[in-house]
Amino acid sequence: MPSSSTERAAPAPARAATAADKALEKLGLVRDIDLALHLPLRYEDETKVIAIAALHDGEVGQVEAVVSDSRIQFRPRRQLVVTLKDEHGDDLVLRFLHFYPSQQKTLAVGKRVRARGEARGGFFGLEMVHPSFKVVAPGTPLPSSLTPVYPSTVQLSQAVLRKAVAGGLARADLDEIVAPALLPPNLPTLREALRRLHEPAPGLDAEALEDRSHPAWQRLKFDELLAQQLSQLQAKREREAQRAPVFAAVRGGRHDALLRELPFRLTPAQRRVADEIARDLTRPVPMHRLLQGDVGSGKTVVAALAAGVAIDAGWQCALMAPTEILAEQHLKKLVGWLAPLGVTVAWLTGSRKGKARTKMMEQVASGEAALVVGTHAVIEEQVRFARLGLAIIDEQHRFGVTQRLALRAKLAESNASGQALEPHMLMMSATPIPRTLAMTLFADLDVSTIDELPPGRTPIETRLFADGKRDEVIARIRDEVGRGRQVYWVCPLVEASAALDLQNATETHQQLCEALPGRMIGLIHGRMPAAEKSAVMSLFSGGQIAVLVATTVIEVGVDVANASLMVVEHAERFGLSQLHQLRGRVGRGATASVCVLLYTGPLSDAAKARLKAMRETGDGFEISRRDLEIRGPGELLGARQSGAALLRFADPLTDEALLLEARRVAERLLETDAAAAERHIARWLGGRVHFLNA
Ligand code: ADP
Ligand code: MG
Repeated sequence: MPSSSTERAAPAPARAATAADKALEKLGLVRDIDLALHLPLRYEDETKVIAIAALHDGEVGQVEAVVSDSRIQFRPRRQLVVTLKDEHGDDLVLRFLHFYPSQQKTLAVGKRVRARGEARGGFFGLEMVHPSFKVVAPGTPLPSSLTPVYPSTVQLSQAVLRKAVAGGLARADLDEIVAPALLPPNLPTLREALRRLHEPAPGLDAEALEDRSHPAWQRLKFDELLAQQLSQLQAKREREAQRAPVFAAVRGGRHDALLRELPFRLTPAQRRVADEIARDLTRPVPMHRLLQGDVGSGKTVVAALAAGVAIDAGWQCALMAPTEILAEQHLKKLVGWLAPLGVTVAWLTGSRKGKARTKMMEQVASGEAALVVGTHAVIEEQVRFARLGLAIIDEQHRFGVTQRLALRAKLAESNASGQALEPHMLMMSATPIPRTLAMTLFADLDVSTIDELPPGRTPIETRLFADGKRDEVIARIRDEVGRGRQVYWVCPLVEASAALDLQNATETHQQLCEALPGRMIGLIHGRMPAAEKSAVMSLFSGGQIAVLVATTVIEVGVDVANASLMVVEHAERFGLSQLHQLRGRVGRGATASVCVLLYTGPLSDAAKARLKAMRETGDGFEISRRDLEIRGPGELLGARQSGAALLRFADPLTDEALLLEARRVAERLLETDAAAAERHIARWLGGRVHFLNA
């Protein structure tokens, strides 16, 4: 063990420099401006020293004293124990459980040391474990400002990082780019703000700096949000320069017929979003719209109406869903609505092979199939469209940028001027997020929101049960089934424990078969062949299967109106939006529905917060808000692929006011000074712009 410490203690100077550069690069710190914008996480107050006698147990303090004893102890484990004695004769023990031999030399008897750390009551009086320390000459002045502590990695010491940041700060171009008149009032310049944050003036209180409410922080957050807004608005403008097919409205066409034939009336919200979409489709600019609406709000019919517009205009529409079951649901609905109107629908999924697939592909290529529904199989290379005009993506966050790009590439036609055409795109999401947030995350998208459910739905009652109460739950199922209703029982299935999870689902299935003799109990999971899955699903939607035990394959989009009870086993293992999606599988008809969340303790804080949110609210917007609070925006909605991933300092939830300002300024700046906009984006995002705009 000692030999390995020796090796680490004396790295060659030249190699150290390279290693530091590499470590800096890993943190994304390449340009001077990157370094200048690398802001402290917190500060240490090294501006004062106190007498050892003034240290309090549990409090952080800095002392200056002379080493009176220094030794390596071997019990209870090997450690360096250094005793300091200050001018009043009081002792303080410094204890290092990990140390280099060089540190023992540095802390030799007689050396004057400034040590800062949390004082703890030890066996021999107060001590500090792993304090930060430095050896000083007598009379060395104390720093006059707080010492910044930067986000770092193991390979990079604070000392190296501080020096690098100070260098970057001195060299970087920090001139104001945006005219002061455009900026929100009362914010310091960027240069002032950065100085303030990297080298806080004496007497500044660390708390105001650390909670990021200080005007200097506000300025940085504003600039960051501005860069993000600019970059996304720019992407939007680029898209607006592209050309898309124009779908002229056809009176008395499929769209109108569908509207007439529907067995229900659209809700005002559905009508509004359908109009927003139809308007986009008459423009020669590719639509890029997110349709968000809570589970069960009726997005599918809105998608069908959009498809009707495209088909009326003589173009093809593709609808892509993340799972085969979901795609099949769409297929059934859409065939039911559109086939009577003379629309041929093709069906493309991974499991469809051979002749059937060849035939479908021919129909797609010839244009005979006006509507193509399926999974990822829709965007496979061999699939050729005659005239793809509209692409609809359900549960868009399950698809990546590449897949969206592939869909766009399926339209290879050119317009009269020889410019390549782009298809219109409609993305659907059942995880609605507040408007402001949608604006930040998707500033390059137009957002349509269905904010009401179809009438006649009764709210779903949500109950939590410890797993020990399983029998009560089964009794409840018996009642429900006795009344002719149907039940879902969902078990978790994660890759890491797939075999065990599957066993669990199978056992639950067995248990329910025994508890409910004479009833058909179905089992469906992701590993079953597609044909088998679809057979089980049709038995369930046909009402023959009374209870469907399922792994999360039914998570999205499945629509069986007669199902009135949803049981989720191991609810603590599911994410909040996942739980909300699952709950949304019931309550689709007029019957009062119940969602039972069975949990197995002990629960983590996050799991508790999720279950509590489920019990307290049924509103998808509120659920998304809570989800954000629990997880942070980075994880939501495939946000990693969007702008939110680039927000280091600003938080779209708490910095809403700044965000709105940034949006306003971004629009003005793009109009009045495109070059300044470019410079601002480059300053903040450097080489990462492509990532943002993908
Ligand atoms: P989601 O938005 O979750 O995709 P769906 O499109 O699956 O919701 O719709 C849920 C159910 O509500 C479907 O059975 C659908 O036919 C029905 N529905 C949709 N719109 C209305 C409406 N305006 N009135 C009554 N029922 C509707
Ligand atoms: Mg849906």
